[in-house]
Amino acid sequence: MSILKVARIGHPAVRARAVDVAPDRITAADTQRLIDDMIETMREYDGVGLAAPQVHMGLRLAVIEVSEEDDRAEEAVPLTVLVNPVVRSLADETVDGWEGCLSVPDLRGLVPRLRRLELRALDRAGKPFRLEASDFFARVIQHECDHLDGSVYLDRMKDARSLSFIDEWDRHVGK
Ligand SMILES: [Zn+2]
Repeated sequence: MSILKVARIGHPAVRARAVDVAPDRITAADTQRLIDDMIETMREYDGVGLAAPQVHMGLRLAVIEVSEEDDRAEEAVPLTVLVNPVVRSLADETVDGWEGCLSVPDLRGLVPRLRRLELRALDRAGKPFRLEASDFFARVIQHECDHLDGSVYLDRMKDARSLSFIDEWDRHVGK
């Protein structure tokens, strides 16, 4: 496995719309290697999610994992691989929460997101699955799915004044 270079905003890869992974390509060796490399890259850089466009691959593919020790979330999320994900709202309610992004290094901002959603996707074996997510898990799913459409959390912020450097945020805003 290898750690991949993460594209930052300004690189066109971050803003390009990704295309579906062809079902017969999901289990192909190169796709499986990409998934493994994305998982390793996410863990290396302490991310809770990573989408393929962030590693210069224009595919609708993302990985999510929140460890129990992570202070950004109340709940752990097991490693989840999302291939060709589709999100549907389960409530009109949105909640504001803090987000950061490996493609927008060192910053954090307050972003409104759906509180509850339904996710349908394929797993890394190409098998369809469906889950309902709320709160932080739902937030991470929306953040990663946005990447597949070339969007980053900055586009979703209602008020750019919450944008903070993480070290200043730690000092002045906290959790
Ligand atoms: Zn991101």
